[in-house]
Amino acid sequence: AGGLDAALFAAWAEEIAAAVRADRDRLTALDSAIGDADHGANLDRGFTAVAEALAGGRPDTPGALLSLVGNTLIRKVGGASGPLYGMAFREAGKALGDAPEVSLADLDAALAAGLAGIRRLGSAAEGDKTMVDALAPALRALTQAVQEGLAPAEAVGAAAEAALAGAQATIPMQARKGRASYLGPRSLGHEDPGAASTALIVRALHAAVSR
Ligand code: ADP
Ligand code: MG
Ligand code: MG
Repeated sequence: AGGLDAALFAAWAEEIAAAVRADRDRLTALDSAIGDADHGANLDRGFTAVAEALAGGRPDTPGALLSLVGNTLIRKVGGASGPLYGMAFREAGKALGDAPEVSLADLDAALAAGLAGIRRLGSAAEGDKTMVDALAPALRALTQAVQEGLAPAEAVGAAAEAALAGAQATIPMQARKGRASYLGPRSLGHEDPGAASTALIVRALHAAVSR
């Protein structure tokens, strides 16, 4: 019990696919400033494949659904972001186990497991100008909202705002991980593409829980 079922998680994946498609060029422009101009295309390829997989048959549990997302991203997305996001969704899926419905607190714990997976694989700390700079504050906001007993739409709304602020806070940072780190101080003054896509992913979760 807890109210968040596989249909909600499928809606999240579909919202991400639509958001990435709509913002594909913006993500690629961010990556062309401090990377290799493929982040929008990478994620669009990955989440289009996720949407196709779901259209072919939806897993029955939140955990299986997120595992499918993670496995698809690992298979379809090259570059740094595919394995990192793939790991995050797989770890989140594993944390949800085989329950048919999960609670907001379960979702919070699962996303924390996803962040831990990203940190383990990429060894980025906050302040290194990566997706971690959007996801970590989003999770702090979500955990606090869960403790305060907020409803899912408000709680995930707070997380989405924190992710967006976290992504914008990467602008004055110097990159210490990934391709952007090769630029040294020339990475200053640009929003990190992976932090920007994380903000989209959390906003998509807000859209799904607000449906
Ligand atoms: P690539 O850099 O291989 O072309 P993408 O462009 O798809 O891959 O993704 C780049 C994003 O991946 C960066 O903006 C950053 O947020 C994230 N990233 C890169 N390396 C790491 C890392 N070690 N830890 C966490 N995130 C990382
Ligand atoms: Mg790139
Ligand atoms: Mg690349």
